[in-house]
Amino acid sequence: MSETMFTNKDVFLLYRFQEAHRRLSLLQGQLSDPALRHEIKDLSDQLALVIKETNLLQKEIDQLKTENQKLEDECKEYDFQLGQIEKTLYSGKISSPKELEQLQKRNAEYKNAKGSREERLINQLYLIEEQENRLGQLQEKAEGLKERVEIVREQETKRRTTLRAQAEKVKTEAGEIEKALPQGLIKFYQRSAEVLKGIVVAPIVESTCGSCHVILSQAVLEKVKKGGGTVPLCESCGRGLFYPETSR
Ligand SMILES: [Zn+2]
Repeated sequence: MSETMFTNKDVFLLYRFQEAHRRLSLLQGQLSDPALRHEIKDLSDQLALVIKETNLLQKEIDQLKTENQKLEDECKEYDFQLGQIEKTLYSGKISSPKELEQLQKRNAEYKNAKGSREERLINQLYLIEEQENRLGQLQEKAEGLKERVEIVREQETKRRTTLRAQAEKVKTEAGEIEKALPQGLIKFYQRSAEVLKGIVVAPIVESTCGSCHVILSQAVLEKVKKGGGTVPLCESCGRGLFYPETSR
């Protein structure tokens, strides 16, 4: 057979080749769809922020606890000092009013100092409680985000695995069709595939072009019916034509 003589069956085979390629490029488009990857990145970023916030808060809580420990120790020390002062006051050993006055002054000062520390201690205890609640919420949020990231990751892996398997299948199919295709038709396809956006041949549907839908002229229909020549082309969109019903 000549390089430019094709039967309807040949063109139909080219159509199957073309459709396999279209499916393949659709699958490749889906494979490179970044939607889920963006979602994973988004969730991971959120998670990183929550972890950062959690760590900062934990540090603050630790600091407050250390401070409170120090305040408690100081209060104990004041208690001890106040006890000493009291002992001296009631010991009857104080001889001068000046000494008494000084002791009373120190007594008042220590009580004051102790009181202000106790107040701070209580305030900080409330603060610690609040922050520990917040910490719990953040930890829950982090757990939720971690789970969500895992789920979406798994989804994406599954999706890609399925698409890759489908693409492999279609590739094999296209390869097998290619082996059976006349060389001239492969060239015909390659020449215009890009310009015609991957649709190089179209079936005739009720005397119209299956791609651009114009009513085909009698001459073209005759040529397709006769077959065995060059690929009959649609006069409107330039795509190769074939009868699907006679090609099976
Ligand atoms: Zn057309």
